Amino acid sequence: MIKYQNLKQVNDSFGDELMSAVREVVRSGWYVRGQEVEAFEHEFADYCGTTYCVGVGNGLDALTLVLDSWKEMYGWNDGDEVLVPDNTFMATVLAVIRVGLKPILAEPQIKWAVIDESRIKSLITERTRVIIPVHLYGQMCEMDAINRIAKRHHLKVLEDASQAHGALYNSQNGLELTSLFGRRAGNNSDAGAFSFYPGKNLGCMGDGGAVTTNDLALAEMVRMKANYGSRTKYVHELLGMNSRLDEIQAAILRVKLKRLDKDNIRRLEIAEYYSTHICHPAVELVPFVSGGSHVYHVYPIKCKNREYLRSLLLKNGVETLIHYPVPVHRQKAYMEAVSGGSHGGLDFPISDMWANDEVSLPISQSMTDKQVQFVVDCINQNIF
Ligand SMILES: *Cc1c(COP(=O)(O)O)cnc(C)c1O
Repeated sequence: MIKYQNLKQVNDSFGDELMSAVREVVRSGWYVRGQEVEAFEHEFADYCGTTYCVGVGNGLDALTLVLDSWKEMYGWNDGDEVLVPDNTFMATVLAVIRVGLKPILAEPQIKWAVIDESRIKSLITERTRVIIPVHLYGQMCEMDAINRIAKRHHLKVLEDASQAHGALYNSQNGLELTSLFGRRAGNNSDAGAFSFYPGKNLGCMGDGGAVTTNDLALAEMVRMKANYGSRTKYVHELLGMNSRLDEIQAAILRVKLKRLDKDNIRRLEIAEYYSTHICHPAVELVPFVSGGSHVYHVYPIKCKNREYLRSLLLKNGVETLIHYPVPVHRQKAYMEAVSGGSHGGLDFPISDMWANDEVSLPISQSMTDKQVQFVVDCINQNIF
């Protein structure tokens, strides 16, 4: 059986390191807002190349806290607009709604599933405040183009980097990046939001998240809002919320961060193997992105006969998933709260195509070459 993701295998591969990190926190007698979180914040900021990192409770809160802080700092009104891709995990959109702003949905590219930067301009109005590029599946969005548009219209840019820990964007070469001199996800805009949910490229063993930024005022506001609006114990300058990374999760993340680049390189190897070996008339491959501007949180393929392919793989013991079967504009709970922009309706044919055709093949640093080869053979050797 090749599970879509085998977290036990991933975490077992750290030997006793994770156990002893947890044991030390348990023995320390200090569990929230302590030295593990502080050390992790420094290490993750260093890794991303940002000046600041603030640990928070989860990825949804990371997005929410940044938007809420900006709304407060710049005096934005309820209903001011935020551009988000239509094909993303719901957290990206929910964060916008939660703080009283209005999500304006944008189509993805046909070739890759990330936001189509050429469609952004037409969605901007005088109420637009933020663009949220989501580095979907682990692939960096075209940040130079997005930042240029944002600058021209005085907008903030918040990267949803929850699927792209460690991805490198090279401002010279864009999506063709092969250099070590790129900028990490979370350091290509005004702020980055991360989730450390167990299945992410950098995952803890519960919930966790972080905000990265080079803006001191934002970092301080996020930190304060995440801790009951308080900087000094029992003095509450704002209402705020409770969203904290805890010591055990931070200790786990410190161990796993050291291996993130190695793990991402293994994902890239697997993605390259899939991309060069899968060959079937019913399967459309998504062009391989080398060099690290894609860290393959998800390896997507397109297939018109998706359910047949999935059941055939499952019969052979290969588990697959779909990211995501129902796009934002077709989610009942969200239809009222979102908009397709000034020219109207919730009509997103490219996003629908991704939702209808996408299949995510298993990709994990713990997969063996044999397993990867077996997945390829299962696809290539069957007629459908
Ligand atoms: C996982 C994820 C989130 C939310 O993370 P949680 O920690 O589950 O709240 C946000 N955005 C994207 C794109 C994600 O994949």
